[in-house]
Amino acid sequence: MKFNIYSGGILDRAAERRNDAEWLAAQLVHPATRLVPVWRTQNLVRRDGTTAHAVRPHYATAGWLTELGAAPIFLGLVEGVAHFALDLSRLADPAVLPELTALGEFVELREVGALLSQNDGVLLAYARGLIHWHRTHGFCPRCGAPTASRQAGHIRQCTSADCATEHYPRTDPAVIVLVSSGEHCLLGRQARWRPGMFSTLAGFVEPGESLEEAVAREVMEEAGVAISRIRYHSSQPWPFPSSLMVGFMADAEAPVPLRVDQTELETAEWFSRADIAGFAERGRSLPNRDSIARRLIEDWLAKD
Ligand SMILES: [Zn+2]
Repeated sequence: MKFNIYSGGILDRAAERRNDAEWLAAQLVHPATRLVPVWRTQNLVRRDGTTAHAVRPHYATAGWLTELGAAPIFLGLVEGVAHFALDLSRLADPAVLPELTALGEFVELREVGALLSQNDGVLLAYARGLIHWHRTHGFCPRCGAPTASRQAGHIRQCTSADCATEHYPRTDPAVIVLVSSGEHCLLGRQARWRPGMFSTLAGFVEPGESLEEAVAREVMEEAGVAISRIRYHSSQPWPFPSSLMVGFMADAEAPVPLRVDQTELETAEWFSRADIAGFAERGRSLPNRDSIARRLIEDWLAKD
C-alpha cells in the first residue's frame, strides 16, 4: 500500500503503555529516549539541501529541554525507543536558547513535509497535532473548569470533581475529491491560496452526514456539478490544525458549465491533461507535493 505523506512509517503507538505510569516515568529519563520538540505550530528540523530531517535529540544530551516545556506526551516507540513530544511554546522565542537553535530550526511542517522521510513526517505531524490539541483544550467545554493532561497526554480530564469529564484528542474529517469527466478534471482555487494554484475540491464533513454525502454536497455547492460513482482513494492525517483528509475520485456525466460559489472559490474550471501539462507556462501550479490533493491529481494524470 502506498501511504500519503504524514502517514505510514514505523512508529508503534504502544497505546497499552499510556496508563503504565512506572514504565513511562522510567522511559522519560532513559538516556536513549528521544524528544520531539514543538514550538507553537512549528516543528524542529534540520534542512540539508533538498532533504530535511526531524530533530529528535536523545534524553542523554537534551534532557534539560524537559525543564522548559509542558508535560511530555508519549508518542510511541520507534524500533523500541520511546519518543515524547515536548511543547516548548511557553518560550517567548526559541532563539533565546542557542543550545536549542544549534539543534535545528523551528519551521512550519508544510514547508518541509515533502522533504522529510516517511517516518519523520509521521512523527512531526503526530506531535504537532497532539500539541495543538493540548494548547487549545485547556478548559472543559462542559463546565469551564481547567483540564489536565492524563494518560501520557492522550486524554485531558476536567479538574472539577463534580464534572471530571475526559476529553479525547479531536480529528475533524474533511473530504477531498477529484471529479473527472472523460479527459477533463475539475479543479478550483480559493482566493487565499498562492496565485495560480489550482486544486481538488474539499470541505468538512457535517454532523449527521456520511463521507459520500459530504463529497456530493461539496461539489454541488462549490461548482454546481452533480457527480456519481464516488469511490474511496486514500486518506491523510492533516494536522493543520486537526483534520483527517479522506480522498475520493468521482465522475461527472460531462464537463458541464460550472456554477461557482464565489464565497468558497475564486474560480473553478475543467482542465484536460494537456491543460495541466501546460500549467507552468501559464503561471499556474498544482498543490504542494506533501498533499493528498496532489496525489489525487497525479494519479488521475497517470491513468490511461
Ligand atoms: Zn468539566
